[in-house]
Amino acid sequence: MSNDYNYMFKYIVVGDTNVGKSCLLLQFTENKFSDHTESTVGVEFGYKTIKLNDQLIKLQIWDTAGQDSFKSITRSYYRGAIGGLLVFDFSRRSTFEDIKKWLKEIKTYSCDKIQLVLVGNKSDLPNKDLTIQEVQEYAQQEKLDFYEASAKTGQNVDVVFESVAIKILRKIETKQINLDDQMLGIKVNLNGKNKKKSKLQNNQSPYYNITLNGKQNQEEKNDKKSCC
Ligand code: GDP
Ligand code: MG
Repeated sequence: MSNDYNYMFKYIVVGDTNVGKSCLLLQFTENKFSDHTESTVGVEFGYKTIKLNDQLIKLQIWDTAGQDSFKSITRSYYRGAIGGLLVFDFSRRSTFEDIKKWLKEIKTYSCDKIQLVLVGNKSDLPNKDLTIQEVQEYAQQEKLDFYEASAKTGQNVDVVFESVAIKILRKIETKQINLDDQMLGIKVNLNGKNKKKSKLQNNQSPYYNITLNGKQNQEEKNDKKSCC
């Protein structure tokens, strides 16, 4: 894993099965689209480093990898996430209706500093089951940014991931996010160009004890909301 970054942000991607979460991740990290994405068991990650305001931001993006029911997602998935994509399929209304449930899960288990974006994926498909006005109204009501996107054509894929990072960075710069909060999913790279010091310690950061393959670690057994 390259250490050439100033900050690393933990992102999560949530939404119903088959809305295109894994495809969005693949398109963002590798500029690829696959008609046959395989659901593997457990959490998988994607990484991409982007440059914003002269800062190198490494995004560590967690994918549910097929475990898309509310109950199967482990707490460590949400823990420490500072960015999140709420994804629905623009051609399947039920997936939009489920966004309310996903948002509730995030509000229960994630840090309240988490920066979210609502993504209506598969914008390339015709016969939309939903009106854009309806989605926009919901987004406004929940104070979420909203983008139509397509993992297939690449429309707005970079924008979606980058817009979240821009807002997190702005909050860091304006001190609305306190980097000394050890449970936030932000890692400051002490070897990077930005030598800013952080009190993040390995055994306290959300980057420690990453849970793979759905196995629970000790922290996860703790029901308490874990950051901020
Ligand atoms: P996940 O379960 O949310 O991770 O969904 P996947 O990423 O596995 O995608 C589910 C299916 O939708 C796959 O067959 C993809 O090829 C397809 N898919 C994903 N994104 C798009 C998109 O933007 N447009 C179209 N037409 N199909 C997509
Ligand atoms: Mg998937």
